[in-house]
Amino acid sequence: MKDRYGREIDYMRISITERCNLRCRYCMPKGITLVPMKDILTYEEILEIVRAAVSCGITKFKVTGGEPLVRKDCVFLVRNLKAVPGVEQVTLTTNGILLAEYAEPLAEAGIDGVNISLDTLSPEMFREISGFDELPRVLEGIDAALKAGLRVKINTVLQKGMNDTGWTDILLLAQDKPIDVRFIEMMPIGFGRMMEGYNNDQLIREIKMKYPGTKRDLAVHGNGPAVYYSIPGFKGSVGFISAIHEKFCDSCSRLRLTCQGKLKFCLCYEDAVDLMCILRQDKNEWQETPFQRPPQEQHEAQHQEQIQAPPREQFQRPPQPQLQTQLRNAIREAILRKPKAHRFSEADGVTEQKIMTQIGG
Ligand code: SAM
Ligand code: SF4
Repeated sequence: MKDRYGREIDYMRISITERCNLRCRYCMPKGITLVPMKDILTYEEILEIVRAAVSCGITKFKVTGGEPLVRKDCVFLVRNLKAVPGVEQVTLTTNGILLAEYAEPLAEAGIDGVNISLDTLSPEMFREISGFDELPRVLEGIDAALKAGLRVKINTVLQKGMNDTGWTDILLLAQDKPIDVRFIEMMPIGFGRMMEGYNNDQLIREIKMKYPGTKRDLAVHGNGPAVYYSIPGFKGSVGFISAIHEKFCDSCSRLRLTCQGKLKFCLCYEDAVDLMCILRQDKNEWQETPFQRPPQEQHEAQHQEQIQAPPREQFQRPPQPQLQTQLRNAIREAILRKPKAHRFSEADGVTEQKIMTQIGG
């Protein structure tokens, strides 16, 4: 379905948790309070929304968070998403820590690709940015994803004075492996407002100087706003998501579903339609999803923050035509209320007050 500005809206990012096993300084630093699990969409509710979204022409979905792989049975959700008639593509964004464990099951579930966030190849800088010494596990995760035959993209956010000199190392991942490396400009959302990012225009100039022959790659690489370049001798391409220095809103095709069931039109603004409200109008019908926090020391607990999925029978719930109609109307409203453009560069432009993990990155 097209929005008011003629853009085809066919892509939804679905946040399934705000929890995470890292604490990246620009995203969710230590000390953030988490909402209780009863306020998070169950997998069944997500599938109900996806069925309605498909009927509005949305056929591509990205599972994100927080860290999606810390939610128990994430693979099961992926399999069920792939089974919804009309769903064409399901991908996942992860920090890679649990990917060595889940790459193979995700491939078996039919996932169409994974984006792995990696800001540095320096173990010290990794700890500085993310709060934990987990670089080796992320690298294992990348290898496991490739071994499982998954399409892999690396997402890197550069911060001035932090990891901005380390881009060459990350870019080299695309030399020998069929991996696209994408540089995402820091956006003024949540803690990102307090960080100084790196200008992608400047980065492109630096890459062209280091690798003469770098030229635009016009092949379609995904659903996002990334602009790609190919570098002679590299198996993968290099992509740039330049939210600040190159407005890409004219080609924006996405909506964002937060884990609390708010359907956002644009990252920049707080406006959203409330799908949770529609889903839980008959409160008795919806069971609280239990959440079990293992009584272990903090770091271990974060890795094992596994959320109980609802019992599997719930996934075979009979179709609910009335609920579907209400959800479809709400999704249509969201598409029609999508704004023309973000206002990240303007002083009072950003009205979104939530942090990235509450929105879904
Ligand atoms: N935990 C998963 C991961 O790290 O890929 C998925 C969620 S994370 C919020 C998704 C992406 O958002 C990551 O690549 C992260 O670097 C990026 N991100 C978080 N805050 C950002 C900000 N303020 N500006 C730009 N990108 C940001
Ligand atoms: Fe967690 Fe991803 Fe945010 Fe880092 S960027 S804190 S890994 S959600």
